[in-house]
Amino acid sequence: MNSATSATEAATPQPVVFHWYEAEVVAVEAVTAFVKSVRLRCPIAGRQRAGQHIDVRLTAPDGYRASRSYSVASVPDDSESLELLVQGLPEGEVSGWFLETAEVGDLVEVRGPIGGSFSWDGADGGPLLLAGGGSGVVPLLAMLRRRAQVAPDIPAALIYSVRSRAEAIALGELEARDRDEPGFSLFLRTTREGEGRRIDAGLVQAALDRIGAPTKVFLCGANRFVSPAADLLLAAGVPAGIVRTERFGA
Ligand SMILES: Cc1cc2nc3c(=O)[nH]c(=O)nc-3n(C[C@H](O)[C@H](O)[C@H](O)COP(=O)(O)OP(=O)(O)OC[C@H]3O[C@@H](n4cnc5c(N)ncnc54)[C@H](O)[C@@H]3O)c2cc1C
Repeated sequence: MNSATSATEAATPQPVVFHWYEAEVVAVEAVTAFVKSVRLRCPIAGRQRAGQHIDVRLTAPDGYRASRSYSVASVPDDSESLELLVQGLPEGEVSGWFLETAEVGDLVEVRGPIGGSFSWDGADGGPLLLAGGGSGVVPLLAMLRRRAQVAPDIPAALIYSVRSRAEAIALGELEARDRDEPGFSLFLRTTREGEGRRIDAGLVQAALDRIGAPTKVFLCGANRFVSPAADLLLAAGVPAGIVRTERFGA
């Protein structure tokens, strides 16, 4: 009887409990007018797979707390600190603090890493097809940084939709990778400058033609980007079973 009970208990998946750890802001740097790179020194640095996120919790002097999720932009080999790329939203409670107030020496709390299914490492293979809208590029950037480190021969393409070049995150790095890394191609669309075009079937097909049939596909951004992007990929023949999505809120 007792052993049957324990067998049942052993078979029941237990929720993972993440502890909150103190994290110190060790660097803050403007990346675009609306995005800051924030480096946090914390015990969970280096434990993440590329693409995973952490939760960050702020506590006001009156005890009010707010927590939000942020993808880790840095690669796992740095075990001292990790990098977040935070886009400030109008009236944004947590992103506004990062954009306007955060400075070196500030303390926050973090937990994670979280999100094992939205992650990639060299052993997972490819070709790798990535599509990001706005700040949704952050976990994909981490995957590209990791690819360059451990599996530069795996073909990869990034479809990146952003309002303007000035608002694009890490555009200099992405264009340098496109130029210097054989096997990686950037497909950039600006929705509010130039011809002001959203991603479409032609762009998706161009990315597929460049890398061949993908075995891993990651889509990330706001719902208004992820849903149509997923539809375009499926219409182009990408099997639904290899597509992973992450939605960043509104
Ligand atoms: C898994 C995951 C990873 C994430 N990674 C990142 C990241 O790397 N970088 C990053 O900048 N953000 C990321 N986000 C979004 C982030 O968690 C917050 O939602 C964002 O910073 C807004 O929080 P806030 O407290 O500033 O805004 P809030 O005070 O919660 O909201 C302010 C206003 O903005 C709207 N809003 C909230 N979220 C969004 C959004 N994502 N887009 C548009 N409008 C929104 C709200 O409806 C509200 O009107 C991620 C979200 C998830 C779920």
